[in-house]
Amino acid sequence: MIHSPPIRTRFAPSPTGTLHLGNIRTALFAWAFARHHKGQFILRIEDTDLERSSDASADGILRDMKWLGLDIDEGPFFQMQRMDRYREVVAQMLADGRAYHCYMSVEELDALREKQKANNEKPRYDGRWRPENIAKLGLKIPAGVDPVVRFKNPDGGVVAWDDAVKGRIEIANTELDDLVIARPAPVGQVGVPTYNFCVVVDDIDMQISHVIRGDGHVMNTPRQINIFRAMGVEPPVFGHTPTVLGNDGEKLSKRHGATGLNEYAANGFLPEAVINGLARLGWSHGNDEIFSPQQLVEWFNLESLTPSPARFDADKFEWLNGEHIKRMPMDQFVARFERYLREVKLDTGERPGFAAQFDTEDGPSISAVAELLRDRAPTLRKLAEMARYCFENPANQQSSFIDAYLSEHLNDSNKPAIVWIKNQLADVEWTKPSIAAVLKDAQSRFNVKTPHVMMPLRVMLTGSAQAPAVDALLMTLGRDASLNRITV
Ligand code: GLU
Repeated sequence: MIHSPPIRTRFAPSPTGTLHLGNIRTALFAWAFARHHKGQFILRIEDTDLERSSDASADGILRDMKWLGLDIDEGPFFQMQRMDRYREVVAQMLADGRAYHCYMSVEELDALREKQKANNEKPRYDGRWRPENIAKLGLKIPAGVDPVVRFKNPDGGVVAWDDAVKGRIEIANTELDDLVIARPAPVGQVGVPTYNFCVVVDDIDMQISHVIRGDGHVMNTPRQINIFRAMGVEPPVFGHTPTVLGNDGEKLSKRHGATGLNEYAANGFLPEAVINGLARLGWSHGNDEIFSPQQLVEWFNLESLTPSPARFDADKFEWLNGEHIKRMPMDQFVARFERYLREVKLDTGERPGFAAQFDTEDGPSISAVAELLRDRAPTLRKLAEMARYCFENPANQQSSFIDAYLSEHLNDSNKPAIVWIKNQLADVEWTKPSIAAVLKDAQSRFNVKTPHVMMPLRVMLTGSAQAPAVDALLMTLGRDASLNRITV
C-alpha cells in the first residue's frame, strides 16, 4: 500500500485504570507505523467520562509510554480541554442543518423501541424531529424540555471502508439512526458533546491520517465516517486490531500473567523485550521472533497485522526477555542491572516480597556478577534474587537446605578432597586456570567423581544446587568470601 505523507497516527486511551496489554499494543502499532513512515504520533487522552477518569490513570499512561519508549510528537491533548471546540462544531452543524434539535423524551424513545421490537424491527430512533418531518407529523415543541442535538445521518446507501486489518467492511445507512452528538441543553446553548462526535472533531483537527485502534470500535466507525463526510473531510484509513486473548482463548486477565506495564518494569522486564512480545501479538515479520524496537520500526506495516485474535503467553514474554538480556552488549547489561538492583533496593513498598536487601557495595563488582549470572535467568528480578549469594553468605540466610544437603552428601568419601581444596585455595594464585587446576587435582588425588566435589562446594558457596561452574563462582566471590563459606 502506498501512503502519501504526512502520516499521522494517534493513541487515544481513556484514563480509567491501568493500560492493559491490548491497549498498549495498539499504541505500539500506531507508534511504529508513524515512526516507519517518518510521520507523527499524537497522544490524546479521552477523559470525558468524568466518573471513571482520573489524573492518576493519565499519569500512569504517560509513565508506561515513556518506559516503553513510545515517544510522542504532539500532545497529550485532553478532550475535557477541548469542549469549547466541540461545542463550536455542534453549533455550526445546527446552523447549517447537518444537525437538529430533538425533543423526544426518554419515555417516548422507550415506547418506540418496544413497538419496534414487537414488530421484529431493529430498535432505532425514527428521525421524527428532523426539520422536514416536524410539520409532516404535526409535532409541537414541548415546553420545559431541553433538546439533544442529533446528527442527520445519510438516509440511503452504504458506508464502506477498506479496513487496513479486517478488509472491506460495509454497513447500510438504514442500520444507523441519527446519532445524538450533544446531550440535553436549553436551545441557544450546546450540551455536552458525545463520544463519537468528539473523536471525529479531534481526528480532523489533529489531521490524523491513520486511525489504528482496537476492534471494539468497528461499530463506531460507520457513524464516524458519516460525520467526517458531513464535515467535508475524507475519513482517514482505519485499521482495527483484534483483541488479545489469554492463551486459553478466554478474555485476557491477570490470571494469564498479564499485568500492568509498571509490574513488568518492577519484575525486571526490559522495555525492548516487552515491545518485541507485544508486537508479536498479531503482527509478524517472516519468521523473526526476536527483534529490536528499531527493527520493528524498520519492518512495520499494517498488511502484516493478523485479523484473528492474538493469544498472550506469559512464558513467551519471559523467554523473549531472557533472549534480549543475553544479546545485549555486556556493558549495557551491567548498567541496567546495576540500576535495577539500586532501584529495587530503595523501593520495597511497591514490590512486596522481593528479598534483595543485600548490600551491593560489599562484595564483587556488579560487572563480575553480571558476567557470572547473565545467562542464567530471564528477568532482572530473577537475576537480582539469584545475585544475593554474591553479596551475602548463604549460611546466614534462614535456610536449612545447606545443612540438609551437606549432611546427606558430604561424607568420608569426598570430605578429604574438599578439605584439601580449601587448603590449596588459601594460597593459590587467584586466577581461573589456577583455581580450575586445584579442583581438577583434587578429583584425581582423592579419586572422587566431579559432582561429588562440585555439588557440595556449589551448595556451600551459593546455598543452591543450581549454580554456575565452581571455578567461576570462586573467581567472582573472591578468596576471603570463598574460604569463609567452605565450612569443612
Ligand atoms: N478512547 C478509546 C478507547 O480507549 C479509543 C478511541 C479511538 O481510538 O478512537 O478505547
